[in-house]
Amino acid sequence: MENTVKNIYIGTCPNCRKGKVFKEKGGFFKLKLPKMHEKCTVCDYKFEKEPGYFYGAMYVSYMLTVGEAIGLYLLLSYVFQFGDNFQIFLMIAVAMIGLSFFNMRISRIIWMYLFKI
Ligand SMILES: [Zn+2]
Repeated sequence: MENTVKNIYIGTCPNCRKGKVFKEKGGFFKLKLPKMHEKCTVCDYKFEKEPGYFYGAMYVSYMLTVGEAIGLYLLLSYVFQFGDNFQIFLMIAVAMIGLSFFNMRISRIIWMYLFKI
């Protein structure tokens, strides 16, 4: 389980756990969406099994976003002890935009691992 979390974070192939899933990580500041390899460069495992396979990853992404927002809210309200929720809300909104690229990448990997475990 610990290794799986690490592999998901690094973005290795769910089949052999050696090849990389993404060619480019992309990033908010580079204004680039992450690009995937079609197949694993090591074991030839096909990542997108069928067209639309990754639609389900949106649910994973959604859950991640909600989880991160709740975590951030708890953290920020603890650290800053604001009585004003609006400031916290703004900070979370900014953080979520930055995290959206990360979420997109990680949710696809989690989605593939869900069917492999
Ligand atoms: Zn592989």
